[in-house]
This record gives sequence, C-alpha cells and structure tokens, in this order.
Amino acid sequence: MKITCSSYDLKLKHTFTIARSSRDISPVVIVELEHEGIVGYGEAAPTRRYGETIETVMGFLKGLNLSSFESPFQLETILEYVERLAPGNTSAKAAIDIALHDWIGKKLNVPLFRYWGLDREKAPITSFTIGIDSPEIIAQKVEEAKEYPILKIKLGGSNDEEIMKTIRKATDKTLRVDANEGWKTREIALKKIQWLEQEGVEFVEQPMPADDLEGTAWVHERVKLPLIADENSLRLHDIPKLQGAFDGINIKLMKCTGLREALRMAATARACNMKIMTGCMIESSVAISAAAQFSPLIDYADLDGAALTINDPFDGVVIVGGKLVLPDRPGIGAVKKM
Ligand code: MG
Repeated sequence: MKITCSSYDLKLKHTFTIARSSRDISPVVIVELEHEGIVGYGEAAPTRRYGETIETVMGFLKGLNLSSFESPFQLETILEYVERLAPGNTSAKAAIDIALHDWIGKKLNVPLFRYWGLDREKAPITSFTIGIDSPEIIAQKVEEAKEYPILKIKLGGSNDEEIMKTIRKATDKTLRVDANEGWKTREIALKKIQWLEQEGVEFVEQPMPADDLEGTAWVHERVKLPLIADENSLRLHDIPKLQGAFDGINIKLMKCTGLREALRMAATARACNMKIMTGCMIESSVAISAAAQFSPLIDYADLDGAALTINDPFDGVVIVGGKLVLPDRPGIGAVKKM
C-alpha cells in the first residue's frame, strides 16, 4: 500500500464567517492510497477548533507505516493501528479511513451505499449554509441558494436579529439555525431559542459552549425546538451523555475519524432515540461524497461544503434541487476532474 498526500487550497465563493472565525480559503489534504493498481481517495479538512492544521495532518500521515499490512481489506486492523498512533488528529485519521473504504468499493466495483445495502433514493435534502454577514451579502446569498429548499443560518454573533430579519424578508423557506456555541449563558440561549420558535425554525444546532452541557440541559427542558449537538458530539463515546441535553447529533467525518465510526455513531444515536444529522467542514467532493454514501440512513443533511467553493478538484455527489444525488460509481464515487 502506497500513500501520497498533497495539500490543496479550496477557494470560497464568499468569505465564510461563523461565531468564532472567518476565512476566504480553506486548505485540505488529499490522500491517494494505491494498491494493486487501484487508487482510493481520502481527504482531511483540519480545523483549529479540534487542534488540527495542514501541518499536523501532514505530520501524522507521514508518521504512518502501513508496510506490515497486506491489503486495504484489513480495514479494521489498519484503523485500530491508526487510532492508537496518537490521540486527536481526527481529520487525518478520516483521510485514511475514507481512502480505505474507497479502495474497497473500487476493488469490489460497488458504490459504498450499495455495499451497505442502502437505497440512494432515501438520500435526504441538504441544507445550504448562510454564514454571518452584512444584510446586503446575506440577501445575495439567499438569492444564490434559490435551488435549496432548506437554509442553515449561522447565528451566535452580534447581529442575530438583523440576520433573521434579512432572511425572513427574502424567503419563507425552512430554516435551521447553528449558533456554533455562540450563546454563552443559559439565559441568553433560552431567550434566543424562544425567539426562534416564532421564526419558522426547524431546529437549533449547538446553542451553547460544549463545556456547558449542564446549561444546555437546563435550556433543553424549557424550549420546544429540537437541539442538535455538533461541538458536543465528536465521537462515539460522546453520545450517551448527551441524552437529556440534546435531541440529536451531527456526525462529521472530520471529527469522528471517518466512515467506520460514523456508522457506529448512527447506530448508537438510534439506540439513544436521537435524530441524526450529517454535516461537513469546507471540503472537496472527496469527503462530501464519502459522507453522502451513508446519508440514506440519516434524518438531516448539511453537506454543502463543496458547493460553497469555486475550485473543487473532484466530481462526486451532485445536488439537484437540494437533494443529494449519489453517482453510480464504485467506492465513494468521486473522480478527479481533468
Ligand atoms: Mg455546526
């Protein structure tokens, strides 16, 4: 097995601002895992919130030694080795996980969704994310998102009311709100969510800081809108303790180390009677297409990461009228653009 990795700068259509950060370029690492003439693609989209950068991803991947493994079919054993190598590094681990899954699908000549027995017609509609911005830019973004029936609105900054007013003036679409931990006290979070209950919002993602689970549970008892955990739902072992504070979890490959753990998280969330959402970072069609493969299993999708960029180096899952359309190609279904 030969692994090569290269960094790539995804350029964003608009400056992307959420409660804690703002950027125009989002660097990722593309991994190619070659074995027996077949190349499996993987991707890491590191975020500082989880302690990763392009440098840490490259360092982790260069430290891998897969020479004792015979084939990607040893996925479980390989990923146990990758997990034990160092704590954290979840997006770097996800890149290897995705590449292994892609390779296996290609070797068996079957798309992953079919390998897992999933019906691609059940792939959900994905929301389109509107970052924090001035009213003029927000109005423009709502216009650009006209093919998407569901919008995800980033709040948690200093102008939540102004943003909602601008959006509601432009559209009556279903809205989902993501505060990215931006409401710092339980009183503020409660007030904001009670206000959003009047604004046609479907659910609220991560209203409060991840380290205040008790505060979130206090708010949860007092509001009608479902709460979805994102920064509180990183990996499999996080899920049981979220009961009572959240109604669902957001699974992201870059937080949970990839498809192997994502499927286990989905099963665990169901066992805890929780809703499941799948989200993404700013990612190319490699990681987005990988996440889309298990999307027929979940309730809500937020897989617009590649759609927010202007130089995606891959073709993969496409979005038609907001719906994720999985290509009939083996593995994750992503092919390099010529
Ligand atoms: Mg989120």
